[in-house]
Amino acid sequence: MSAFSLSGQTALVTGANTGIGQAIAAALGRAGATVICAGRSSCAETVGMIPGSREMTLDFADPMAARDVFADEKIDILVNNAGIIRRDDAIDFTEADWDEVMDVNLKAVFFTCQAFGKAALARGTGGKIVNIASLLSFQGGIRVPSYTASKHGVAGITKLLANEWAAKGINVNAIAPGYIETNNTEALRADPVRNNAILERIPAGRWGKADDIGETAVFLSSRAANYIHGAVLNVDGGWLAR
Ligand code: NAP
Repeated sequence: MSAFSLSGQTALVTGANTGIGQAIAAALGRAGATVICAGRSSCAETVGMIPGSREMTLDFADPMAARDVFADEKIDILVNNAGIIRRDDAIDFTEADWDEVMDVNLKAVFFTCQAFGKAALARGTGGKIVNIASLLSFQGGIRVPSYTASKHGVAGITKLLANEWAAKGINVNAIAPGYIETNNTEALRADPVRNNAILERIPAGRWGKADDIGETAVFLSSRAANYIHGAVLNVDGGWLAR
């Protein structure tokens, strides 16, 4: 069997109703996984794309929402994809915009990993975690202080958890997507000046597609990645190499 096959594995993807999460869920399904599509919105469209998949309501307005999700069922792969962004000048940035982003992008990611880890360690089965980081896990960005802090945090806890769990059979890694065509970036692509400035800086000369991230998630979820721990893998068309 291919080292990239996920046949016999069950995967849970957060924020699977749209964008990168939908593409990840579909790619894991194509690789043979049984996929649980988790979202605060309906994941019916994604479920319709993946034979044998099902949906689960998971709203990280409560960052502890996934606390009981992994206890009753063996889930082998967790993809923490759900994320939000708030934009304002640092000088005007509100506590509400700080807390909301940190809760969804960082606190929920850590405690969802913890719930997954508890169940996997109790069963002795191991597993794979893929967190969705960002270029702003490495760069500062502008007018997105809580997003930048949260995504630096995602890179940090990915390494911390890898250190604690690598020897116990759980691989914890992250993907740092570059500029990807999703709803999230529609406004940037619609602005010809921003669009050109971004494209000129991407060595690959094109925006990323959600599927580019989906296929990388398959790799990090598969046996082919068994010796990869604590990596934050840039999938950015070369952006960070510039
Ligand atoms: P998106 O289309 O806006 O998708 C974000 C997902 O997160 C949606 O499914 C959304 O659900 C979900 N979500 C938001 N708040 C939630 C909550 N409280 N509870 C549960 N789910 C929640 O954006 P995307 O581009 O696909 O982003 C997916 C991930 O990739 C994010 O972590 C983002 O930071 C990261 N990323 C994206 C890019 C890019 O260029 N697009 C680059 C780097 C990193 P709703 O649809 O219900 O809002």
